[in-house]
Amino acid sequence: MIEVTSLGCGYGAVDVLRDVNLRIPAGEMTGVLGPNGSGKTTLLHVLAGILPPREGRVRVSGRDLEGSSARWRARLMASVAQNAAVTFPFRCLSVVLMGRYPHLSRWGGYTEQDLEQAMGAMEQTGTLALADRLINEISGGEAQRVVIARALAQAPSVLLLDEATSSLDVARKIQVFDLLLEKNRGEGTTIVCAMHDLNLAALYCDRLIFIKDGGIALDGPTQELFTSQNLSEIYGTRVMVSQHPVTGSPQAHFVPGAALAGGPDSSRSGVDARGSR
Ligand code: ADP
Repeated sequence: MIEVTSLGCGYGAVDVLRDVNLRIPAGEMTGVLGPNGSGKTTLLHVLAGILPPREGRVRVSGRDLEGSSARWRARLMASVAQNAAVTFPFRCLSVVLMGRYPHLSRWGGYTEQDLEQAMGAMEQTGTLALADRLINEISGGEAQRVVIARALAQAPSVLLLDEATSSLDVARKIQVFDLLLEKNRGEGTTIVCAMHDLNLAALYCDRLIFIKDGGIALDGPTQELFTSQNLSEIYGTRVMVSQHPVTGSPQAHFVPGAALAGGPDSSRSGVDARGSR
């Protein structure tokens, strides 16, 4: 579904990603992880067609993104940015209806079906009660859920999320990720989400891609990659890993005072992938 070959990109004189090769099959739920400034947002911008590659190519659904129309991309892919603020005083329902825009016929307006789809997405994200409120007069977390509803109303085959839940409380995070999982498992939506929350990524993502210093450091199944040694090396702090008591997923534990002084050596010195000494 998504194929990235020898990708190089950046901004102005700055090169951010170099020689990135990726293949994300349709229907995967993939987490993009890595330290601040490693290039996660940049990668998502390239996948969304917002930032053109300087080198290499990106194909989505068998077609080159370069030269593709914005309408074609919007029918296929929806993006949610981190703190995706809408500063204009639009009613929340109007914001969500904008997600239907790429599907409208060139001559017609919104149909009853578009309205149903928008309201369905608001119901799923718990934002239906906000339908008539102005998006610039609700809380940041509420606005973020409205923007997530807009992406769902777009009915995309590929959903790109950049730290989309970081401003939400724990219950809302879980609610959104449960919903994403339902879309992924039930409708086969391909989901790529850049995340800082390692434990949320381990709970929901089948596969993880770790970016560091502008390149792919690790790429593979969550169960294989989510180890104390890998996480300590990537993030430069001591990370211990244990098993989630309910789901069995690996979960990370951080150690006070171990940032930057930790890393690979301290992780080798006695903490295995289950977190025992
Ligand atoms: P991440 O999402 O992993 O935190 P980003 O992709 O946002 O990382 O940023 C990667 C690098 O690109 C950083 O060094 C950042 O400073 C730089 N960068 C991001 N956006 C811009 C921009 N618009 N102009 C110049 N440099 C940028």
